[in-house]
Amino acid sequence: MPELRKDPITGRWVIISTDRAKRPSDFLRQSVEIKGNGFCPFCYGNEDKTPPEILAYGRNGSGRNQPGWTVRVVPNKFPALGIEGDLDRQGEGLFDKMNGIGAHEVIIETPTHEATLATLPEKSIEQVLAAYRDRVLDLKNDRRFRYILIFKNHGEAAGASLEHTHSQLIALPIVPKRVREEVDQSKRYYQEKERCIFCDMIRQEIETESRVINENEHFIAIAPYAPRFPFETWLLPKQHSSAFENNQSPIYTGLAKLMRDILARLDNVLDRPAYNYVIHTSPIGEESNDHYHWHIEMMPKLTKVAGFEWGTGFYINPTPPEESARFMREAHVESAAK
Ligand SMILES: [Zn+2]
Ligand SMILES: [Zn+2]
Ligand SMILES: [Zn+2]
Repeated sequence: MPELRKDPITGRWVIISTDRAKRPSDFLRQSVEIKGNGFCPFCYGNEDKTPPEILAYGRNGSGRNQPGWTVRVVPNKFPALGIEGDLDRQGEGLFDKMNGIGAHEVIIETPTHEATLATLPEKSIEQVLAAYRDRVLDLKNDRRFRYILIFKNHGEAAGASLEHTHSQLIALPIVPKRVREEVDQSKRYYQEKERCIFCDMIRQEIETESRVINENEHFIAIAPYAPRFPFETWLLPKQHSSAFENNQSPIYTGLAKLMRDILARLDNVLDRPAYNYVIHTSPIGEESNDHYHWHIEMMPKLTKVAGFEWGTGFYINPTPPEESARFMREAHVESAAK
């Protein structure tokens, strides 16, 4: 019989198929292939084809917007929100509105067109994480912003419009509803128990074992108890930490190792799927707290969201997380997560 499971952090229910659980081979999908044909503005040598860079690592004396970089951050050429102007919050009768102010940046993870995040050396992934952190720390000085979301779309099916591997960052003048729900719910849990719900969850998952995919000294990757999507994977720091940007280098090194390991496992088990990931961290102005625990949610693009999901906010997940975790654990990868 299928199972209804509730995610303790968001309160969201999901339907998990248990009888005819789908295996990796059951998902009809297209592998992400880097074709490399056509002009690419993110490639080495095309630096003048993007808006002027905001940040670059690895330059050895070479000038801005020239080759010589290893990670590069530029404004999105087609931003979802505009950086100039005031918020100008207004009521329109019972409706609320404000100007579409925000920052929309692109983190180009490597100058090499053919690379994917899963095939980059750990040191390069660490640099990408450092670029995320540095941009967040800088954008937090802008008092118009309340939240900064870092996310990645890999592959056309996951919404990537350019195949050269990159992530994105959007600074928002409001805290998004999904994040607000997670923060508020974990605060309620803390008020009742004086414990972080994520720390509790990590302890329990380590004890239970069945949903743990891999771990190292600082990080753990699990299939959550009530995942929306097959092979959904969460990466969490083992020690309580409420904000992504307020960490020291061993934490980012541990994360880079585990990210590379998990992405390689996804590539192996699901034959290079399209995927998204998001970094969930505390809103600006509430960075230091005992209740919210930052994390990364990774979702390979295997299923479609349809009418039932739109109508209910429920998700139907055809693969129990205990199964997906097992497939992920058994994947053949050169294990470097330690
Ligand atoms: Zn390229
Ligand atoms: Zn915690
Ligand atoms: Zn989250």
